[in-house]
Amino acid sequence: MSTSDRKPRIVIAGAGIAGSLIASGLRDRTDCELICLERVAPQEQEEAGTGLNIGPNAIKAMRWYLPNEAETIVCNSLPWSVWTIALTNGQALMDLRLDAVADNPGIRIRWAELYALLRQPLSDTLVYNAELTGCGQDDNGTFVTWVNRATSDLRRLNGIDLLIAGDGRYSAVRQFVLGGPETPSFLNVCLYRVLFPAGPDCPIDDYGQWFNGPNRLLAYKVPGDFVYCAGSFPIPAGGQIPEAMKQPAALRQAYLPTEGEPSREAAFLIDSITRYASRIHWARLQEGTVTYGHKAGILLAGDAAHPMVPTLGQGATQACEDACVTVDEIRLALDAGEPLGVVPARVEARQAERARFVVDLSRRATDTMLAGADPVSGTRWKTEPAFQQELTKLYRDVSPPRGGVAAPQHWSSL
Ligand SMILES: Cc1cc2nc3c(=O)[nH]c(=O)nc-3n(C[C@H](O)[C@H](O)[C@H](O)COP(=O)(O)OP(=O)(O)OC[C@H]3O[C@@H](n4cnc5c(N)ncnc54)[C@H](O)[C@@H]3O)c2cc1C
Repeated sequence: MSTSDRKPRIVIAGAGIAGSLIASGLRDRTDCELICLERVAPQEQEEAGTGLNIGPNAIKAMRWYLPNEAETIVCNSLPWSVWTIALTNGQALMDLRLDAVADNPGIRIRWAELYALLRQPLSDTLVYNAELTGCGQDDNGTFVTWVNRATSDLRRLNGIDLLIAGDGRYSAVRQFVLGGPETPSFLNVCLYRVLFPAGPDCPIDDYGQWFNGPNRLLAYKVPGDFVYCAGSFPIPAGGQIPEAMKQPAALRQAYLPTEGEPSREAAFLIDSITRYASRIHWARLQEGTVTYGHKAGILLAGDAAHPMVPTLGQGATQACEDACVTVDEIRLALDAGEPLGVVPARVEARQAERARFVVDLSRRATDTMLAGADPVSGTRWKTEPAFQQELTKLYRDVSPPRGGVAAPQHWSSL
């Protein structure tokens, strides 16, 4: 128990992937008070028009720590079992079966679907329209201030035993912990995303990438008969995305092969991104430093702890891993009657080194997307044993529960 006779109070900022999973893993506990503040309104993110591939490591971790949530997500997604790389003219460069480097498949899902699945069971603890505006620590512990976006009412929550920042890449709690805003590190690459109907002749299925020089198309099918496409191209150093590059004709030109005709898959994607250009979400590749907080009673998780480039699809994946380890440490601390202030340092001890490895590997794997890159040589090293061993570490070396439970099922028995 905490120092007073009340139940320990846990506040989660942000019901994204990390925040929702942590709340889900704790929602049946009667020995703590749980409040989750989410900025958006209930249906606001449902139209978020993109897809996600979540790595095998997240599914492995969830099967250990959050088996019901893992089951729900797997049942509502498509399996991610292969990773192919080719040039847009059809020349094959890599065909990796994930069972060579992972214990189970990953998944493909629409982002809006994932958020809806994760938030649906949280009606008792989730406060929508609640935007955290600040936080701090005083004699009573940690406090947060928040505004109700529907009514503009200002609120304050005091006496928080554990504040968990699941408020994403631009986390207000991260800014408090770091003492101010952080300048992200940009990789001078535009990454855009679009979701569109697959249609009857769609040649896209599992996860594939197609390069024309450093310009890359990444695509896969997601449930509901949609295709998710994430395209990229280099942009000038330190600059914004040139408006001229956002035009359909320029997008087409970026991926048309200089030698030969586009493959069936590349031609389909080029036609689709130009047809749906007005729906595209534009972003730039960026990353920040890894920190889980360094403050007793405040824990950063997911993107708030390790904003990384999404090249290996590990942002949401690592948010899942963080959530699993956080739930494990909170359950253990509650069971032992320990103050929850011990949790952040324990999560950091288990996750920080792994997060640094993932951030670093994601950045190194971005080599083929940088200005002047050659996708042929840049892909070759990804087919060699050293990179495959790193992928094996990435997909298999998930932190096992401290309390100890049976290992999850492996690929062959799924
Ligand atoms: C182009 C692109 C493609 C990507 N593709 C993949 C991929 O394929 N696979 C993958 O694993 N990752 C991918 N990622 C990364 C992934 O989306 C993130 O890493 C992941 O969503 C992080 O989860 P999170 O829980 O930390 O934060 P989020 O999922 O971002 O959730 C943060 C939540 O906090 C809420 N919030 C924010 N501020 C406040 C506030 N002040 N008060 C209250 N609530 C707040 C938000 O509304 C949101 O619900 C991609 C990212 C990008 C940009």
